Amino acid sequence: MIGVTENLRKIRDLLHFAAIEANREPAEVQLLAVSKKQPLEKIREAYAAGQRDFGENFVQEGVEKIAAMANEDLTWHFIGHLQSNKTRLVAENFDWVHTIDKLKTARRLSEQRPDGLPPLNICLQVNVDEEESKSGVTPDALPALAAACVELPNIQLRGLMCLPAVREELDEQRVPFSVLRKLAEKLRTGGIDMDTLSMGMTADFRAAILEGATIVRIGTALFGER
Ligand SMILES: *Cc1c(COP(=O)(O)O)cnc(C)c1O
Repeated sequence: MIGVTENLRKIRDLLHFAAIEANREPAEVQLLAVSKKQPLEKIREAYAAGQRDFGENFVQEGVEKIAAMANEDLTWHFIGHLQSNKTRLVAENFDWVHTIDKLKTARRLSEQRPDGLPPLNICLQVNVDEEESKSGVTPDALPALAAACVELPNIQLRGLMCLPAVREELDEQRVPFSVLRKLAEKLRTGGIDMDTLSMGMTADFRAAILEGATIVRIGTALFGER
């Protein structure tokens, strides 16, 4: 026991209460356990406590953990920045990628997804703060990228993701999440079928759930400091 079981129980309660506060079904909010830089034994403890979805940021580290847990029914999400020369290992090993912001990367993942595996689930990362230094497609370029991704055979566009700048207050935290939700609504109105909003981390998951998050990505609160 390293405390992960107890942390998981607390987080599940908090997600549940945030969903109720938002007038949403608690089952609509999925917990993605962000296990980057955390040892396998913590992943195993979370798994034993019922957690199935795990997120990794670094290709090599992720692939090693996936191999070590290959006999269990885990779902692996790549949530780090993806360099175009690293796409093959991701296409071969992961179930989801949350950080697509270029058509080139999406195309490579589709081409490199092995036959016999289901399509790779992807989210488009949106630069909701429109900061120069941040990854993510701009809101203006999003519709064209989404439309192009829908045409690719071996990936499935599931939704949008964001990683906004840090804000302290709940009301401020809600602003970028609300922007992402509205962008997703607009795409859906335009005929693009998506079911996922990947947003919210340890410091801001409540704001994200209030704005419609369907996947919250939580690391520190679950596994401790990295
Ligand atoms: C590390 C990371 C997280 C988890 O952050 P915590 O603050 O530890 O919960 C979520 N999303 C992404 C993209 C990350 O890189």
